[in-house]
Amino acid sequence: MFKIGCHLSASKGYLEMAKVSEQIGANTFQFFTRNPRGGKAKDIDEKDVEAFLEKSKAIGIDVILAHAPYTLNCASKDESIRTFAKETMKDDLRRMEYTPNNLYNFHPGSHVGQGAEVGIKYIIDILNEVLVEEQTTTVLLETMAGKGSEIGRSFEELEQIIDGVKLKDKMGVCLDTCHVNDAGYDIINNLDGVLEEFDKIIGLDKLKAIHINDSKNEIGAHKDRHEKIGEGTIGIEAFERIINHEKLKDLPFFLETPNELEGYEKEIEILRKLYKN
Ligand code: FE
Ligand code: FE
Ligand code: ZN
Repeated sequence: MFKIGCHLSASKGYLEMAKVSEQIGANTFQFFTRNPRGGKAKDIDEKDVEAFLEKSKAIGIDVILAHAPYTLNCASKDESIRTFAKETMKDDLRRMEYTPNNLYNFHPGSHVGQGAEVGIKYIIDILNEVLVEEQTTTVLLETMAGKGSEIGRSFEELEQIIDGVKLKDKMGVCLDTCHVNDAGYDIINNLDGVLEEFDKIIGLDKLKAIHINDSKNEIGAHKDRHEKIGEGTIGIEAFERIINHEKLKDLPFFLETPNELEGYEKEIEILRKLYKN
């Protein structure tokens, strides 16, 4: 079954996100765990969660993706920034257990000068502190475009992080099509080759979700500017191959294109037509 959804506002709670998803033809969604700038999270409303879980069962939502605030920086050389990232993540993961067996995605971070090696070590240290054996949530590293000093611009960097984590079975990867294009991976002309490389370096069993975005920029631009599906440099034919690829077709796909709900609804419809069951 095609699992497709988009990024939604979490301001009205879980049940509302399930309802909106149903309205726009989606059967999954992504949301920020808190203000993207990293403020305090609202308390979990257990009644809302209960109603959401029931609704999910009824409409066939079987996985959702929580996104950490994109300003978190586990790789910062500033210890107070790393501590803030760690506490935020710990709290997010505690909250995630109200909706068990789902996915939590974060941007590995930017090393801003002290080098990727050191940044990667900081990320590993935080993950080893926040992950616990009992959790049911899988934590995903997002593939990044490589702008500035972003870590996660290559499969090798993501593998280095996973390799240092003790509870590896709690870890996975979310592949962002705009980001990998901008990072220099040719998913347009050589999707098979890119996935083979992913498999060789990280292992395709670790790939748990796809951010499906077109890109405003050419391959290798290291820019990270999302575009609507079919209106960017990746193009609709490449997306048809991506959603139907045998190694990808059962993963959940999340749109993060520059759209309001109406635009998302249209893109979901387009992709559903292209998806071969
Ligand atoms: Fe992201
Ligand atoms: Fe993304
Ligand atoms: Zn992006």
